[in-house]
Amino acid sequence: MGRHKICLQTQNRINDVYLYGLIGEKLSHSFSADYFNKKFEREGLADAHYRLFELSTIEQLYELIKSYPQLRGLNVTIPYKKQVINLLHEIDPVAAEIGAVNTIKITPDGMLKGYNTDWLGFKQSLSNFIGQASIKSALILGTGGAAAAVKAALNNLQIPHITVSRRPGKAELSYSQLTPELLMANQLIVNCTPLGMYPDVNTMPDIPIESITPEHLVYDLIYNPPETLLLKLAKARGAIVKNGLEMLYLQAEASWQIWQS
Ligand code: NAP
Repeated sequence: MGRHKICLQTQNRINDVYLYGLIGEKLSHSFSADYFNKKFEREGLADAHYRLFELSTIEQLYELIKSYPQLRGLNVTIPYKKQVINLLHEIDPVAAEIGAVNTIKITPDGMLKGYNTDWLGFKQSLSNFIGQASIKSALILGTGGAAAAVKAALNNLQIPHITVSRRPGKAELSYSQLTPELLMANQLIVNCTPLGMYPDVNTMPDIPIESITPEHLVYDLIYNPPETLLLKLAKARGAIVKNGLEMLYLQAEASWQIWQS
């Protein structure tokens, strides 16, 4: 990608620790620091710490890495999973194909390599959710980084899918096109929008909820709150529902494996 190596300063090295973290615009919803710091404690990794770093633009990434030379790995969340790609030195082919990076490995000499573990986390979690059920078709709500990872997982599981967007592109649908017939034809619905996420918990994607039946499986990538408005209303109509907590843990473990490799 032709980027220069980042010259790491050493004056901020307070303790000889390995630092990991999450970058995103707003991070008050995130469970990642809690998950990793408990894991480090459980596994006796006293020299590892995980912190949240709110960045108002993705260009602040280089400054962050210079300020924390002990950083070895980062997770990436809204809205930077696509934008970060231009700042990396190298990208894993799977992440390049998905077009979104949620994991960055930082080498001691300041090289940044991007990966995507969301797709793996979602694939494993979805497989646990659907079990042996054969899904004819799925609706993906949203077109961001998480939606791209979900698409890759559904492709891998050979589950046909249609994307729904506020500004639909070719072969995509708008929310106003979601008729009862269309919902009937798509047994699995995956929310990849942030609608319903803490603190805006009273929002949800604009789908005709009255068309949800006990035949539906509704997976919401959001895990905070554990039951979004979408999941609550879908459950009340008899659907089987699942939130994104298991996916979060699975993608986090996959990130950890990458940082340790
Ligand atoms: P993102 O890149 O910002 O994309 C979200 C997409 O949602 C947008 O592309 C947009 O699609 C749609 N959207 C955004 N605001 C909307 C609104 N007001 N009304 C309707 N649609 C809207 O975010 P992301 O990184 O893909 O993350 C999406 C969600 O998944 C977040 O809640 C995130 O926390 C969650 N997530 C969870 C996990 C996990 O491990 N559980 C992993 C990744 C992400 P259109 O413009 O096409 O409508």
